[in-house]
Amino acid sequence: MKASFDEIAGAIKQADRIVILSHVRPDCDAIGSQLALALSLQQLGKKVFAWNEDGLPESFRFLEKSDLVHRPPGEAEEFDLAIALDTASQQRLGTTLQAVRTAKQWINIDHHASNPGYGDLVYIDTVAPATGQIVYEFLRTEDFPLTLAAANALYAAISTDTGSFRYANVTARTFEIAGELVESGVDAAEIARHLYESYPKRRVQLLGQLLPTAAFEADDKIVSLALTNETKERLEIQPDDIDGLIDYVRSVDTVVVAIFFEELPENKVRLSMRSKDDRVDVNKICGEFGGGGHPRAAGARMRGNLEEVRSKVLKRVFHEVAKSF
Ligand code: 5GP
Ligand code: MN
Repeated sequence: MKASFDEIAGAIKQADRIVILSHVRPDCDAIGSQLALALSLQQLGKKVFAWNEDGLPESFRFLEKSDLVHRPPGEAEEFDLAIALDTASQQRLGTTLQAVRTAKQWINIDHHASNPGYGDLVYIDTVAPATGQIVYEFLRTEDFPLTLAAANALYAAISTDTGSFRYANVTARTFEIAGELVESGVDAAEIARHLYESYPKRRVQLLGQLLPTAAFEADDKIVSLALTNETKERLEIQPDDIDGLIDYVRSVDTVVVAIFFEELPENKVRLSMRSKDDRVDVNKICGEFGGGGHPRAAGARMRGNLEEVRSKVLKRVFHEVAKSF
């Protein structure tokens, strides 16, 4: 059963100590949503904490007050309320889950189709292009505070999860919200500069290493990139340096599915998948490998070495593409 914004607001008003969480390897939708909601609830006089297994990635430090988001402490703490944002499964909360395990009540706000609906109050809108859009609607509907710092965070969240307002899940409402945020003082060009024109040099060096690994298959409908631990160590790559690099190969005209294989320590591989056609649902495919996400953008973490995982996943995607085209 979907909880209403009023029920969620009621639970927040009754709570004193509130912790706001999001998924491991957070993207800007995760951090922006966390930050905006945390700032709003702080203004309501709540004791608010915002935790993420990986802390605050360097690339989002430009967001004012973003140091509110950090790693969880080693010891568990007590909370009246835990709010998970943009997190498709409780497991994706990583180490923050342990740190808040005694929370009396759980709220789950998300836009992932694969979210099973964990928690006491669940608000999942799979049509929303970003969790930041849901948080915006919530704050406005409930007349909760929305400062310029929070507005900037939400604009950044929505801008990134929509591929700068380009993806199929963008609606007139998304543009309206962006307009309202700009009217309230958000400097869209300034945020775009921070998000898309302020990368560290090593990201371009990484791209130089990745493009030669591009492997095209199935009449160039499938493309994959592979990143080894050795390359990551040599270039001192941070997780957020990798975000979005898959777009360089996805953008090829013939490509229907783009896949990024990232070797992780301890014999694991992180998988990132993108589809450009409704006939291939990457949420479904990644679900079969223990992950999830959205129909056109999904991921998973798999056991095994890079080559094993690569051939297993490519075989599965090849089958899916052959079936539909
Ligand atoms: P990305 O490929 O950019 O890491 O993630 C694309 C989408 O898939 C995001 O919405 C992300 O939350 C989701 N996703 C990525 N990796 C996983 C995973 O291991 N498990 C699940 N359930 N979702 C994932
Ligand atoms: Mn999201």
